[in-house]
Amino acid sequence: MTFSETLHQGLPQSAVLRRFAELVAPCDDAALEALAAQAAATTRRHFGKTMRLFAPLYVSNECVNICNYCGFSRNNPIFRTTLTLDQVEAEARHLAAEGFRAILLVAGEHPKFVSNTYLADCTRRLRAFVPSVSIEVAPMETEEYRHIVDAGADGVTVFQETYDPVAYAPLHPSGPKRDFAWRLDCPERAYAAGFRRIGIGALLGLAPWRTEAVRLAAHVEHLLKHCWKASLAVSFPRLRPAASGFNPQFPLADRDLVQLVCALRVAFPEIGLTLSTREPAHLRDGLAGLGITMMSAGARTEPGGYTGAGREALHRTERGKSVPLAAAEVGTAEATVQFEIGDPRPHSVVVARLRQLGLDPIWKDWDAAINA
Ligand code: SF4
Repeated sequence: MTFSETLHQGLPQSAVLRRFAELVAPCDDAALEALAAQAAATTRRHFGKTMRLFAPLYVSNECVNICNYCGFSRNNPIFRTTLTLDQVEAEARHLAAEGFRAILLVAGEHPKFVSNTYLADCTRRLRAFVPSVSIEVAPMETEEYRHIVDAGADGVTVFQETYDPVAYAPLHPSGPKRDFAWRLDCPERAYAAGFRRIGIGALLGLAPWRTEAVRLAAHVEHLLKHCWKASLAVSFPRLRPAASGFNPQFPLADRDLVQLVCALRVAFPEIGLTLSTREPAHLRDGLAGLGITMMSAGARTEPGGYTGAGREALHRTERGKSVPLAAAEVGTAEATVQFEIGDPRPHSVVVARLRQLGLDPIWKDWDAAINA
């Protein structure tokens, strides 16, 4: 039974989920401090002092979906572009020169610009000099994923946005993403295709966080049972300002985010926990010692963000239709970001700070030879 079928029948009941629900229940400061101490000790026991680093590489900001909260949403009048294979390689070489050995290819959902063949070609190019290539793109069928796995990609990330189907529907009024169950079962299709790193998460702020957290934990428990050969990671994307101008109805306080990270670490000691540059530097530094095991650094959230590639193909879209740039925009406009970065520190500063905190930044922790 897939997770969407399981969830449709009601939340599973297990000792782990009951324990997790207790850990995310409202608590006083003393209880939160005790939870944080337990999370820190658990992380140290299972991951040592390591912090794996990765970089997102946006290849396109075209999108056919309307997601009310996203800067790339179809009807937003923004500057868009899709990188050529040479440009993707140039961006990746820039990141590799900075030290990154794990790259996450990110794209909006637009089959005309970002097909599975294009992603397989990107992966093939990058695997010549990048040991770990993952994707965060539109959900696909298992057979479509296989081409990308065969090209050398090892990981897939797909956020459910919200695990509440009632909240999900009005947030996704148009496009293939309207299909809640199709998205929810994406990690299992990716696993069946051979991906061995799976990332999931909820976009925090779209629904009451404690309810989301328990469903997210149920998803973790399901994937640990059904996709047991994969390494599982949970991300904590919290809504950031974007071209959508969306105001989250259920904003998540820093304290809540800390409780969520620590609760997941204590309930699931061996899964990866990922924190992106959406969050401000002080919070990332604090959470680094508590439960987080993977971080992006020096990230950009627009195609061509690292090298300026793709500007020659830049155009604007209005209500999904492409329109030429105005004369004043030619040569000056840049691709629009998906959301504003919360931690703008260069990767070198993040690395130095992690070392100051007693952590060992890890650029590469996986090689295809291990699976072979
Ligand atoms: S969240 Fe993804 S699918 Fe939705 S508009 Fe943004 S890029 Fe497109």
